[in-house]
Amino acid sequence: MKRHHITAIIVGCAAIAMSIISGGEFLAHRKPEIIVTGPGVTSVRKLSEWYPGLAGTHGDTDVYVFQGKEPGGSMLVLGGTHPNEPSGLLSAVLLIENVRAARGTLYVIPRANNSGFTHNDPQEGAPASFSINTPDGRERTFRYGSRATNPLDQWPDPDVYIHASTGQHLSGNETRNLNRGYPGRTNGTFTEKVCYGITELIRNENINLTIDLHEASPEYPVINAIVSHERAMPLASGVVLGLEMQDILIGLEPSPKNLRGLTHRELGDATETFAVLMETANPAQGRLRGRTDEALVLEGKDPYYVKAQQLGRLYVPFDENGHPLEERVGRHLAGITEFAFALSMDYPEYEVELEGIPDYYELQERGIGSYLK
Ligand SMILES: [Zn+2]
Repeated sequence: MKRHHITAIIVGCAAIAMSIISGGEFLAHRKPEIIVTGPGVTSVRKLSEWYPGLAGTHGDTDVYVFQGKEPGGSMLVLGGTHPNEPSGLLSAVLLIENVRAARGTLYVIPRANNSGFTHNDPQEGAPASFSINTPDGRERTFRYGSRATNPLDQWPDPDVYIHASTGQHLSGNETRNLNRGYPGRTNGTFTEKVCYGITELIRNENINLTIDLHEASPEYPVINAIVSHERAMPLASGVVLGLEMQDILIGLEPSPKNLRGLTHRELGDATETFAVLMETANPAQGRLRGRTDEALVLEGKDPYYVKAQQLGRLYVPFDENGHPLEERVGRHLAGITEFAFALSMDYPEYEVELEGIPDYYELQERGIGSYLK
């Protein structure tokens, strides 16, 4: 055998070995993390039960149902609309593993854009996953996904994304943003079909209140805030006061009428639900961040954001303590607690009573891990 043949074989074998390793890592993105079905979950359903067109696709996400013993109203919590905003997913997971409904029904979708969890954003340097230790010394790992649907599920992007029911023009890649596709349609894109499934669930189950959980970068103006459809404003104002009484400061913004496709606008317009969205501060998705790793996702500490705060460039306080995931999840859970309370007070026929939601201050003391099964 000639020398260049041997070289070719060696290089060929090395290329195959690298493909196997990187291929394995690539495929591992599609494996969802474990979520333990807690004692309050009465059934785990699929979104395709409300829109069969999603069956067999990455859009057929899990829906956890908590049916209370006593009849009442109903709430839907959406986590993972944007899979690069981990406080939404983790808040949903803590609900699923810890909460019981005493009255009314709670629906929780932890991965609203399930497809977005199967990849992550190129050139962001974000970790593919992050791990949280539980008190018994074990580790739970969660995916850090992309803001948008995986191109394997929807491709190619148009130059201009035209929102179906209003004709609004947005940049082409927004066609894969779940929070621009509502109320969705059956003859549209993959993302629009997922939107349609969620809208159908809300219509068919008469969901009284829908809460969409998000995060934003600290330099984004709408942060540590509730964005509310006009019909939900009285409820949301009550929630702001309720949180303030616990020293949790949160802003309140009206849902803009001319920005289309978002949950708080379209679900509020297209269905009877009270539609709100909550934002926490995630430096891992910010443009001013430094080193992007698991620690940044979990601890939310970044010296460049401390500097930016000192220069008056941010919309949230930011010191060397940062914004740990405990604080961000705690804010979402405190908001959900207050929304259930406000709904029950303002509309006694829609009463929802939830037990076992981790407390904001206790969560920061004990850590997220102690609430994971
Ligand atoms: Zn978001």
